[in-house]
Amino acid sequence: MAHVVVVEDEYEIARIVTEALREEGHDVETLSDGQVALARLTGDSAPDPDLIVLDLMLPGVDGLEICRQVRQVRITPILMLTAKSTELDRVLGLELGADDYLTKPFSVRELQARAGAMLRRVEMMRAHSRVEEAGETPLVHGALEINSVSRAVYVNGASVSLTAREFDLLYLLASNPERAFSRDYLLDRLWGDDFAGFDRTVDTHILRLRRKLALDETLPGRIVTLWGVGYKYVEDPDPE
Ligand code: CA
Repeated sequence: MAHVVVVEDEYEIARIVTEALREEGHDVETLSDGQVALARLTGDSAPDPDLIVLDLMLPGVDGLEICRQVRQVRITPILMLTAKSTELDRVLGLELGADDYLTKPFSVRELQARAGAMLRRVEMMRAHSRVEEAGETPLVHGALEINSVSRAVYVNGASVSLTAREFDLLYLLASNPERAFSRDYLLDRLWGDDFAGFDRTVDTHILRLRRKLALDETLPGRIVTLWGVGYKYVEDPDPE
C-alpha cells in the first residue's frame, strides 16, 4: 500500500481520483487548497508521501508553483493533472520536475495505470538502493560504473578520481535517472543546512564532474542542465 497525496480543488474530480486510487489499495489524503497543500508537502511534520497527484489550476497557490517548491525539498514523484492540453503546460510541468502528467478528461483506468507505473518505479528504485547499500551490485550506465561501497567510479573501465562531494552528486543523479533536482535541493542534500553557499557551488561541481567523465564522450551530456531549475541525469543524451 502506498501513501498518495491528491491535490485537486474540483470536488467531483477529487472524489473520482481518490476513489480510483483507494480501489487500487492505496492510502489517499485529499487536499483542495494550494496554500494548504504547499504547507503539507514542504513541511517536515507530515509523513513523506510515495506519490503526489497535483492539479495545475488551484486556488491560493497554483500547481506549477507547488511543483517547483516541492522539488526543492523532495524527490517524491509528481503526476500533474492539467485541464489545458497545450504543449506549454506539458513542458512547464515536466521542466519543473513533474514526472508525468494527465490531461483532463482522463479515464479512471488511465489514472490507475499511470499512478501504478510511477509507484512501481519508486519501489524498484528503493529495492535498487537497498541492493546498492548491501554492496552487491555496482550501478552501471553504459560506459559508466559506480560502486557505492568502495565509492569507486570507472569510465570505460578506467578509474576516475572524484572528490567526496563530486561522488555524492554523481551518485545521486545517476541513481535517479530522469529525475530533476533543483540546485537548492542538491545544496541542501549534499552540503547541508548550515552551508552558506551559492547556486554556483552546484554548477561548479557539475562542470568538474562533466570534465572528469569526458573520458567517454557520451557521459558529460548525460548530466542535463534544466535552465532555471537544476540538473538531471538521462540514460541516453540527445546527440548534438
Ligand atoms: Ca483545478
